[in-house]
Amino acid sequence: MLTTVTAGPYTIRGVSVGGVYTSLAVPELQLVFDAGISPRSAGAIDTILLSHGHADHIGALPAMLGIRGLSGKQKPPRVVMPAEIVDDLRAALGALSKLQRYPLEIEAIGMNPGDEITLRGDLRVRAVRTFHPVPSLAYIVTRRVSKLRPDLVGLAGPEIAARRRAGEEVSEHEDRIELAYATDTLVSVLDHSPELLKARVLIMECTFLDERKTLEAARAGCHIHLDEVIERAEKFENEHIVMMHLSQLYRPDEVAGILDARVPPALRAKIIPFTPRGSHWPG
Ligand SMILES: [Zn+2]
Ligand SMILES: [Zn+2]
Repeated sequence: MLTTVTAGPYTIRGVSVGGVYTSLAVPELQLVFDAGISPRSAGAIDTILLSHGHADHIGALPAMLGIRGLSGKQKPPRVVMPAEIVDDLRAALGALSKLQRYPLEIEAIGMNPGDEITLRGDLRVRAVRTFHPVPSLAYIVTRRVSKLRPDLVGLAGPEIAARRRAGEEVSEHEDRIELAYATDTLVSVLDHSPELLKARVLIMECTFLDERKTLEAARAGCHIHLDEVIERAEKFENEHIVMMHLSQLYRPDEVAGILDARVPPALRAKIIPFTPRGSHWPG
């Protein structure tokens, strides 16, 4: 049922079919992106980031919370989402809690574009605006690393240690963009938030791949078409691009061939299509 791909140091595991359901876990970061389907294994992860309120991205959140309950997780998970949908989601979970006479509790964190929170330790997440008919966000996960101040590089160790003892700040912080998640959006998200193009791993929707859906129709639904990715081929500095939220207009086993035929080789080498083996989408 689940598809697993490896992108650099990260495993991306889950299900993603455009308009049907999307939920992707990244176990190394202990994060789940979206809850359109509720894989059993996602119940072990304590932080869920929701891109927006469409059913194919949040419809299975109650089931995911139920699975957590079964596995004996005591603490409600942290659920990060666009600030505008917090009240509606709370109300929906309240109604479902009544239905099943069991509380579906979350720690809700509403974010606005530009907001940043600490996930744990040196790991942070920043929200950026996406372009969809409902309140929606992309997420940029950064790791704060400290490194020697550039003007001190080349100095001997004892000299640096002496300066540190004397109270000098010898290191500086750098926020490295480890992973970004952008789905259900016009491609203009890449122009408005070009830091997405620098993420080590970019998980990005590309719902439509060829003429079976016109560019105009893809834009009307606020989704990305492969034509628009190809137009920007030179701009992607990512090590890996996990292409997901693919439309079921395409069979999973034809996606790689379409990419091979259409995408310039340097960009194609970075793209990992998030597709199951075989000719059928899950479900
Ligand atoms: Zn969607
Ligand atoms: Zn949507």
